[in-house]
Amino acid sequence: PLFSSTDTSGKGEALPFEKMCQCFEALTMANVNRFQKEGMMMKLWTQYGKGVHDIFPLMRLTLPHLDTERPNYKLKHKNLARKYVDLLSLPDSSDDAQKMLNWKKPSAGFTRNEQGNFPEVVYSVIKGRCTVTKGHITVGEVNALLDELAQAQNLEAKERVLMKMHTTTTAQEQRWLLRIILKDMHIGMKEDSILTMLHADAKELYNSVCDLHQTCIKCADPSYRLDQISVELFKPFKPRLAHKADYRTVHKEMYKKGDYVAEYKLDGERYGEALAPVLAECLSPELRECILDGEMMVWNQATGDYAPFGENRSLAGDYKRDLQRDGYQPCYIVFDVVWLNGKGLASLPMRERRELLRPYVRWKAHSMQLSEQVVVEPHPQGKPPSEDHTIEIMNWLDRAMAKGYEGVMLKSLNAPYVPGSRDTDWQKLKPDYVHDMGDDLELLILAGYYGEGVTRNDGISTFLCGVRAPSSERAKLGVPPDMPLFYPFAKVGSGYTHEALVDLRSQLKSAERPWHKSARPLHLCGWIPNKTDDEPHVWYEPTLSKVMQVAAYEIVKGDAFMPAGLTLRFPRLARLRDDKGWADVERFEELQRRVAEGKSK
Ligand code: ATP
Repeated sequence: PLFSSTDTSGKGEALPFEKMCQCFEALTMANVNRFQKEGMMMKLWTQYGKGVHDIFPLMRLTLPHLDTERPNYKLKHKNLARKYVDLLSLPDSSDDAQKMLNWKKPSAGFTRNEQGNFPEVVYSVIKGRCTVTKGHITVGEVNALLDELAQAQNLEAKERVLMKMHTTTTAQEQRWLLRIILKDMHIGMKEDSILTMLHADAKELYNSVCDLHQTCIKCADPSYRLDQISVELFKPFKPRLAHKADYRTVHKEMYKKGDYVAEYKLDGERYGEALAPVLAECLSPELRECILDGEMMVWNQATGDYAPFGENRSLAGDYKRDLQRDGYQPCYIVFDVVWLNGKGLASLPMRERRELLRPYVRWKAHSMQLSEQVVVEPHPQGKPPSEDHTIEIMNWLDRAMAKGYEGVMLKSLNAPYVPGSRDTDWQKLKPDYVHDMGDDLELLILAGYYGEGVTRNDGISTFLCGVRAPSSERAKLGVPPDMPLFYPFAKVGSGYTHEALVDLRSQLKSAERPWHKSARPLHLCGWIPNKTDDEPHVWYEPTLSKVMQVAAYEIVKGDAFMPAGLTLRFPRLARLRDDKGWADVERFEELQRRVAEGKSK
């Protein structure tokens, strides 16, 4: 044990709760650095007697959001506010009652600290009213009270427990009790650092068992080592996550680890129940048990794409029925397996895990598939990694974007499945991690495309943008000298939130005109869509349209957008320029100059 003592009075569950609150107060003070925080927490643990006592009773009050042993309190801010007004016998119309009931509404009556901070608001109301000024309740008693609160069957019973808390604790203690009940502590220390302080393997253990009590018990023994990653059936664990890749160095970094693969990062659906028939059909009878990691997708039979089916629609009615009626098919794309017929596989290298699963599934295109993986630069040549393969990774990203996926995952074939880990064995690359173009471009929004998913179905979601055309076009087209002309050359479909998109759509409403293939607008200088899905749905009157500041990876030559002969790789909105109009946007000549001077990157 790290700490031992024969005197156990005031330790363990007998530790005064006030000591814990004082420690938390100190942790939240400004100007306390990480080391000081760790020191304070360690001091609290010493007072408690870590090693002598099971530290779970203290931990569940420190990290209440990880405590699954106590049932849900079923008490949110609103109920708590109501109960406090009642137990303090405040008239609803009183300032203090209004303050608690409307704790979220911005109002001049709140101090900066209180604004939107419920426990702080309650504290301000009760601090002058509390009869208890010196805390005497222990950690054990707090846990017993919280058990009682969680078990109370109705609001009246809960109010009785809250009343007991109110009459036995100080105002400061109640502020912390409220934070514990709301599972929102704000103690200025992350769960990962607290677990790591407990034991070097505590974080990994917690991620693979999602059980705080078990983690505390095992980690009480400093000689404990997590040698096997212990994923079990019917025990939740955190899925493995991906590190954000730096596209310039990721190839070198991954190559060092041995063979590694690229695969698409898919953006799946949440409605797993639609998969039941697929699993019944595809899992072989020899497969008794398994834990798979994968993404549920929806296959659009008509377009042959994995299309976002959309959350709104599935919530409204019978998801399975809607899927079939609309020509969609649920598909499960498996990328990993961590348990198979009684055996945990998490510690094995990924290449072995996937191979073990292969014979147990009747793989069927667009129903149940193993994710497609390609080794980026196969070993062993004993050679240093080649630069070409950085380009290869960018090509993967290009293809992922063209298919409408989120990005690319790069995974070491030797990597174990470490639950909850975000280590560099799995790395993700998304277009917004890739920005190399130097200065952003200011482009005019020329036309728009309707989105595919339901979340985007309510309007235009991708924009065709362009630069001002050279003046020589004017003579060619025989248009008046004051008519603004443009070269479309990039489609921008990311870089904005849904709210920003809704806002932009409304700003563009007055400029919007329907697009007719037979009469494409003259001011686009004869631009003809290269592919059918490049044909816009609407165009925007240039004088009323908006200017976008666009970031991208590079400007490249190509015939996808003629007559510009250039386009952008991985373009996205950096910001809208409300301060600019069509006359301020980049000229084509400037683009050409950047390409010629090699400043296109
Ligand atoms: P975000 O997805 O927004 O980047 P995140 O941090 O929650 O955030 P990541 O670490 O990026 O998650 O990636 C893990 C998620 O990606 C998991 O939810 C997983 O289901 C999903 N995912 C999609 N495609 C793959 C894939 N090919 N391999 C592994 N995970 C994938």
